[in-house]
Amino acid sequence: MKYANVIVDISLEKLDRTFQYRVPEKLETSLEVGMQVVVPFGNGSRRLTAYVVELTDECQWEPGRMKEILDIAEKGIALEGQLIALASWMRRVYGSTMNQALKTVLPVRRSVQERVRRRLVLAVSQEEAGEYGEMLKRKNQKARFRLLNALLEADREGEGLDYTRAQKELGITAQTVKSLEEAGLLRVETDTVWRNPVNLCEKEQNQITLYEAQRAAVDDILSRTARGDRRPALIHGVTGSGKTEIYMELIAAVLAQGKQAIVLIPEIALTFQTVLRFYRRFGSLVSIMHSRLSAGERYDQFERARKGQVRVMIGPRSALFTPFEHLGIIIIDEEHEASYKSETVPRYHARETAVERARMSEAFVVLGSATPSVDSYEKARNGEYQLYELPMRVPGRELPDTEIVDLREELRMGNRSIFSARLRELMKERLAKKQQIMLFLNRRGYAGFVSCRACGHVIKCPHCDVALSVHSGGRMICHYCGYRQPTVKKCPSCGSVYIGAFRAGTQQVAEMAQKEFPGARVLRMDFDTTKQKGGHEKILETFARHEADILVGTQMIVKGHDFPDVTLVGILAADLSLYAGDYRASERTFQLLTQAAGRAGRGSEKGIAVIQTYSPEHYSVRAAASQDYGEFFQQEMAYRRLMHYPPAAHLMALYLMSESEEELDRGAALLKKEVDMAVKERGSGQNIQIIGPADAGLAKLKDMYRKVLYLKSADLSALLSLREYMERELIREEKLSALNIQFDMDPVNPF
Ligand code: ADP
Ligand code: ZN
Ligand code: ZN
Repeated sequence: MKYANVIVDISLEKLDRTFQYRVPEKLETSLEVGMQVVVPFGNGSRRLTAYVVELTDECQWEPGRMKEILDIAEKGIALEGQLIALASWMRRVYGSTMNQALKTVLPVRRSVQERVRRRLVLAVSQEEAGEYGEMLKRKNQKARFRLLNALLEADREGEGLDYTRAQKELGITAQTVKSLEEAGLLRVETDTVWRNPVNLCEKEQNQITLYEAQRAAVDDILSRTARGDRRPALIHGVTGSGKTEIYMELIAAVLAQGKQAIVLIPEIALTFQTVLRFYRRFGSLVSIMHSRLSAGERYDQFERARKGQVRVMIGPRSALFTPFEHLGIIIIDEEHEASYKSETVPRYHARETAVERARMSEAFVVLGSATPSVDSYEKARNGEYQLYELPMRVPGRELPDTEIVDLREELRMGNRSIFSARLRELMKERLAKKQQIMLFLNRRGYAGFVSCRACGHVIKCPHCDVALSVHSGGRMICHYCGYRQPTVKKCPSCGSVYIGAFRAGTQQVAEMAQKEFPGARVLRMDFDTTKQKGGHEKILETFARHEADILVGTQMIVKGHDFPDVTLVGILAADLSLYAGDYRASERTFQLLTQAAGRAGRGSEKGIAVIQTYSPEHYSVRAAASQDYGEFFQQEMAYRRLMHYPPAAHLMALYLMSESEEELDRGAALLKKEVDMAVKERGSGQNIQIIGPADAGLAKLKDMYRKVLYLKSADLSALLSLREYMERELIREEKLSALNIQFDMDPVNPF
């Protein structure tokens, strides 16, 4: 590589500005992305240190005027350099500009003075605050009294008081705040770190003794990594098998070595209940991130991590980039979750990126799930990951029984309600016993599919083996290849007229439940009822306090909270996710069904899960019912191999967007032709298959029309190099300039 692109400053707007230098001969073999170098800068050729972000053969400037790098500033790669190298890896694997990758990865310094949100938090016990309040009242210090009361109230909710709102709504002045702060009654916090609640619950602290399978996994992982075998560990443990305890034991070992830990948890499971367990064990060494943090708040969190004030960072995807100097372990809980795949460019997968970061920093990765992704399990099978199995719940707890109800039978018996006879009977019984019920609608994505209620037949694409989606105008289309056909009026399999689009909503289910069981208290949790901030937690907490009998929800209700009083889980129609129209639909269904069933019987009473479906013979349904992951995996891999879907091959999606439908159609057709030519010219014709273009699942979003083109190949490097070529040449072409093009490697989320 002859040229190096460098950045001289890691701050938000400066990332956009890279400078190119010639690589001197003496450094040609030693220079790496992420290294700090010394460069002559500006007119006076001031000596500055800079980071190498990219090495390239492509000259972006007049060669005659380009300066040369003077030297490497420091041997080895510092933390920032490591993250830069990680960004470079992400750019190469997932496709994006270097800037987009850097902005995802680096804890960028705040460039403009951002307005920080300040919170007031009670710094004393409720009793002390009460006493102080009495004193204020006696002295007739009204403003202080008002503030103290508001603080007390917020504290009871486990929260702080927003400074700005306190000023506005309570008429509190800065002076009042200051006086209480000086008296030691309140603390001003400038970020949204969860307050360490460890003092509140110290008395509950009792160390758990790991049971045998847990102990064995912990010991093996620690001794293996100590020997230098840092292959990622995959813990396949059923719901409630005690995976979280394993994570905490591993973290304790890593901390004892003076290193740090990152724990990734899907946002939806990032509830107080989970977090509390980590606080109890590690106290103030823990910090929590969530995706609603502003850039400034995120930066503050990262600063505390860098300074060593925080040594365990828990958060969603983006917590992966916590700048720990001596990272020891990265844990990814619920590793199969789709939220680990970024939906913005670069569309990285946190699991693969974690493995790469761990490799660079000599840390190790631990993945855990009751329903591992097919991708990870395949890696465990071929030895890339080390597998640990926990097939049973912790001693004393049993897995729920699972029953399948055939909805075709119900129709035959004349029952057209959402509730089968069996489910209704069980609901009645549980309500009588004052136990709780969860009803689960695994609706996913947006498209409806067409199925026969008499025989269960689903209309699928003849080329792609995924369900066709219903579109307006009475047409069904395939979101992979664009195949379309008119809607059918009669079932092609059995001739029944009970064939049509399958749709159902949570609101409808909640209403039905209320009608059938007028005495029951029904709670609904879905996108609508959780829109406002904290809405999600509020509903779960209400249910946890047993202030409702039935909780109706989408997949949102599958994670997070433990509800010991839930003894019945009803999955209303497994088919909803089964025919979602993408190649991961069966996998997602198996995961949703297994996880949903796992919600039943978390307390001392054994639970039961009822799976209603029109496809009782489908392997995802059967395997979920019999809790047989191996069976599911075998069938699913056979399908992926047959159809060349990941992980049997790689699938690279090109998302094409335009404000103009005509431009999009023309551009997509043109792009396909160009890609086709490029594939042939590069001699990868046999290796790379081009599919589409087709309308995206959401054919129009925010006034942009959307299409997808897929490139499929078993040869990853052929795909990557084709993409590099497209990024370099094709996308810049004038005739394609009307298109916004984004890449997605091995897509997980429907587009
Ligand atoms: P998972 O993460 O696999 O769902 P958890 O770690 O949350 O499982 O454990 C499920 C429940 O069992 C929790 O309430 C936890 O405190 C408890 N538990 C875990 N390990 C043990 C153990 N070795 N002995 C007793 N209880 C345990
Ligand atoms: Zn039929
Ligand atoms: Zn198709």
